Amino acid sequence: MLNCKSVMLEIDGSEGEGGGQVLRTCLSLSALTGRPFRITRIRAGRSKPGLRPQHLTTVRAVAAICAAETRGAALESQTLTFVPQSAPYGGNYRFDVADAAAGGSAGSVTLILQALLWPLLFAGETAVITLRGGTHVPFSPPYHFLSQVYQPALSRFGITFSLDLMAWGWYPRGQGEIVATIQPHRDILCPNLDAETIQTVTGLAAVTNLPSHIPQRMSQRASNLLRKAGLQPAITAVREHSVAPGAGIFLWVPLAGFSSLGRPGLAAEKVAEVAVADCLAFLENRSVVGPYLADQLLLPLALAHGRSSFTTSRLTSHTLTNAQLLRRWLDVGIEISGAPGGPGQIAVGGIAFTPQSES
Ligand code: AMP
Repeated sequence: MLNCKSVMLEIDGSEGEGGGQVLRTCLSLSALTGRPFRITRIRAGRSKPGLRPQHLTTVRAVAAICAAETRGAALESQTLTFVPQSAPYGGNYRFDVADAAAGGSAGSVTLILQALLWPLLFAGETAVITLRGGTHVPFSPPYHFLSQVYQPALSRFGITFSLDLMAWGWYPRGQGEIVATIQPHRDILCPNLDAETIQTVTGLAAVTNLPSHIPQRMSQRASNLLRKAGLQPAITAVREHSVAPGAGIFLWVPLAGFSSLGRPGLAAEKVAEVAVADCLAFLENRSVVGPYLADQLLLPLALAHGRSSFTTSRLTSHTLTNAQLLRRWLDVGIEISGAPGGPGQIAVGGIAFTPQSES
């Protein structure tokens, strides 16, 4: 029998973007607030709807930190009921997306960490989280986006946590590993998101188990293109080891990150060109927050003490959907101006969140 401490929130997972983020935002906020939820039509907007290994692992992981009772936590399930039984608690945790899929999975560990982070920041004690799966996989933040863009952005909110890459995991093999240590926080501060003059683009051109000329060629091509655009490149080429070959380039400036992953048959130079084109499109727009970080900053802004606003180069469907979902979970004002797909301005009145035990 599921024990509901407060009114269950009913969510239609097909609304807006209709992807995994709807589920992850609900999991974070349910663990954080103690409010149960039921989500139907999970990831109805995706070609393989329902819970995939990454989503099922996220459900299991968030359930573990707040002793949640669940119904429908199974691969391909399109309905889930999630009822937290406790405030989030820290400790040592280890989750592997391969445990959710026969034959393994490269499900993104960075997305799992983002879902766990918010409840664990308000847990009573430190949490050490080891996550195994994909660290640099399509349609998710690469590890270097997390460490070079997301983590520094969160430090503007007074949020600090440590993050380490223990092993690279590419699609389709996965088997990468990250470790995060999250200390309890009491408050999320109102960040400074003012525009800065950007002259330098920093980055990493990386391969595992492939020849060293590949990262060098990615780095050289990206550096030449950035110099041509009047920017100062600072891109390091590295060759690492992993269970499988993989390649990618990761570029970052304050509050935005751009990446491109290699694949067999795609020239190293072409991989670099994709990431540079995205980066230049952002810089030409002269907005402050990149399109990916914009959707990921809405949750901390909603919890923060005070009102913040920022401009973003592209109002994505992830951003618009996450804003709508946050309005349903929290008494938060989020104003968005601009057309979907174009540049936008976002203002968020944070609710000055305090943990359940103190409210
Ligand atoms: P979903 O597709 O609903 O599972 O959500 C994917 C999440 O990954 C969103 O928060 C996106 O902003 C984020 N994301 C996707 N691709 C990238 C990327 N290349 N860099 C950073 N974040 C990304």
